[in-house]
Amino acid sequence: MKTLIRGGRLIDPSRGVDMISDLLIENDKIIGIGTGIAVPDASILIDASNLIVSPGFIDIHCHLREPGEEHKETIATGTAAGAKGGFTTLCAMPNTIPAMDNPEMLLDIKARAEKFGIVKVIPIGSVTLGRYGKILTDMRGMADAGAIGFSDDGNPIADYHIMHKALLQAKALGLPIINHCEDPSLSKNGVMNEGIVASALGLPGWPSLAEENMVKRDIELAMQTNSKVHLAHISTRGSVEFIRQAKNMGINITAEATPHHLTITEEWVRPINDSMLKYNTNAKVNPPLRTKEDVDAIVLALSDGTIDCIGTDHAPHSTEDKSYSFEDASFGISGLETAFGALMSLVHKNRIDLSTLIKSLTYAPARIINKPDICTGTLDVGSRADVTIFDPDLRWQVKSDLFISKGKNTPIAEEFLQGYIKTTIVDGRIVYESEDPIIVE
Ligand SMILES: [Zn+2]
Ligand SMILES: [Zn+2]
Repeated sequence: MKTLIRGGRLIDPSRGVDMISDLLIENDKIIGIGTGIAVPDASILIDASNLIVSPGFIDIHCHLREPGEEHKETIATGTAAGAKGGFTTLCAMPNTIPAMDNPEMLLDIKARAEKFGIVKVIPIGSVTLGRYGKILTDMRGMADAGAIGFSDDGNPIADYHIMHKALLQAKALGLPIINHCEDPSLSKNGVMNEGIVASALGLPGWPSLAEENMVKRDIELAMQTNSKVHLAHISTRGSVEFIRQAKNMGINITAEATPHHLTITEEWVRPINDSMLKYNTNAKVNPPLRTKEDVDAIVLALSDGTIDCIGTDHAPHSTEDKSYSFEDASFGISGLETAFGALMSLVHKNRIDLSTLIKSLTYAPARIINKPDICTGTLDVGSRADVTIFDPDLRWQVKSDLFISKGKNTPIAEEFLQGYIKTTIVDGRIVYESEDPIIVE
């Protein structure tokens, strides 16, 4: 079985490739790149003229909710949403119910993904049993079961001693600890960024310092133990500065940022224009949306490599979960289907170049995940045929009721985005083909 993608602009930042070229796939592998490849017999032909052909996107951080919260998302719906968003591999966080804290559960997730997944799913194991922050899990067993790292995401690993022990164990396995940086003694009951908008709305604040303190602690521990730390969803200017300094010192850390922390601010918590509500719970997320200065610092950090990659932190919730008061509504944004379009706004505004953005969605996360048998984030001949084809300029409107994800919780519903996924290919199989967007203005 051969598939020819003809006439697209191939961008593969892993090798600095940016050229008009055909790309030929046989079964699950890329077997040829070049112009004027003859159409092989029995092939599928994809006309990619005026489109960009990229390595398949890799999401290093998402929440698929299965098992335990299938009313919010399942592996089937989450991976279908991922395919629509151009993602070919998703790394699933372990805050399921029960938590993914043992090898058997990881094997079960992989079996479910094999059966129901539209794209590839790689599990992240939890650091502590039940994610309670007390007792370390069988990290070696979970590594053998395919974990790409360990995290108690949703919760920080607040206990210094536990984090230290976890880092030493993970180091022996060559895997990172992925920390949700939040000092709970500072964030307390905060529900949005501490600052003028929180004051105006009368909501308890979650200060930048709560993140920055733990970023600083984790950098120190990474240095002391020489272990790998991956810092999830960086949201503040101060965190960026600590990371930049640490990288300049050669400390072994990597960091991700979400599409929402790169594109929208705390102002989005304010009520939507014609709404009778006092605030927009769909903009409630942890860590919270920050100020314009923070967003600008994170964009610059992504551009200069201080932030390595994008993690969507796709966190689907039911409509009911978001229908309470702001204090009681769930934290999280459903992000897989809007990530690319939202991020392309940075390219269209010349804040980041397209190649850097693609790298942050492909090769950069692939290097952290380090599972080249599953995903390489490249278009190398001989590598697995994970390919995303998109129109960088096509304008479309976010319609949350058309999301494949069960989570309709997005603060950017009805917004216009420019940049649209056309085709997603996983291991040589076309798993998603778009229809043209409907725009009503
Ligand atoms: Zn988190
Ligand atoms: Zn998360």
